[in-house]
Amino acid sequence: MFGGLFGLTGLSSGCDRALARSPESQHSPLPFSFNGTPQQSGLVIGTTLPGAQIDASGITTNADSDGRFVMGFDRDAPLQAMITISMGTTIARFGLEVAPRAYKVTSVSGLPSATIDPPAEALARIEADAALKRAAFDSNNQIARGFEEAFRWPLDDVRITSPWGATRMLNGKSQRPHFGIDLGAPRGTPIYAPASGFVVLAEPDMHFEGGMVAIDHGQGLITTYLHQSALAVEVGQRVTPGALIGYVGSKGRATGPHLCWRMRWRGRNLDPSLRVKSA
Ligand SMILES: [Zn+2]
Repeated sequence: MFGGLFGLTGLSSGCDRALARSPESQHSPLPFSFNGTPQQSGLVIGTTLPGAQIDASGITTNADSDGRFVMGFDRDAPLQAMITISMGTTIARFGLEVAPRAYKVTSVSGLPSATIDPPAEALARIEADAALKRAAFDSNNQIARGFEEAFRWPLDDVRITSPWGATRMLNGKSQRPHFGIDLGAPRGTPIYAPASGFVVLAEPDMHFEGGMVAIDHGQGLITTYLHQSALAVEVGQRVTPGALIGYVGSKGRATGPHLCWRMRWRGRNLDPSLRVKSA
């Protein structure tokens, strides 16, 4: 699908700004097209020349050997995004219109107090967990192509109990937005990989997250699965769509069994459900 491009300007290095605005220069020196809908908390798959350098509104990345790259948009991303593509000395800039999304305000009570105000003895573990998560989110697998696939839901029966991006009151205290989509399910319900990739984190009992798995789908796109009661994969394992990765639980900051499903792309929090074919 194509659409949402605005102010298309192709700039070759060496030409001045006035020339860049002339009608002839509306033909870009570098190709660019994309699949998907540019929207807050969503992503598009761009296509340009293989190996081209990309600046996606401040995030730098490289197109893969097929010329593909991911561009994700924050929960509250500006409604105009800029992509700069460079190949050698040739540079092209493209504007994208980003559709806004509305988010709910929800409240959760009855959470374990140690997961709202962690006790001092938990801080070392929380720091160790954070380091593991940072390493997983920085993963940059060059082989995985899952980012291009239409995702399936990670559970067979989908019941959304908390929408992605809601601002939440936890035990009466205001917290930052919830960067996950919560799917209610009985403890022990199998969780499946939504797309192919490599397991880059598999921890059975983190302080906030409980049992957590992270999958690198390529191009910096990482999905995570929180509060699991037990895991079925190990770090380094390759997964295919539908592969069993673990089981629903309520470990960590949770009031009852559910799967908190999240997606990250180079520091930006995205809504994984927007990748599901039926979404
Ligand atoms: Zn959640």
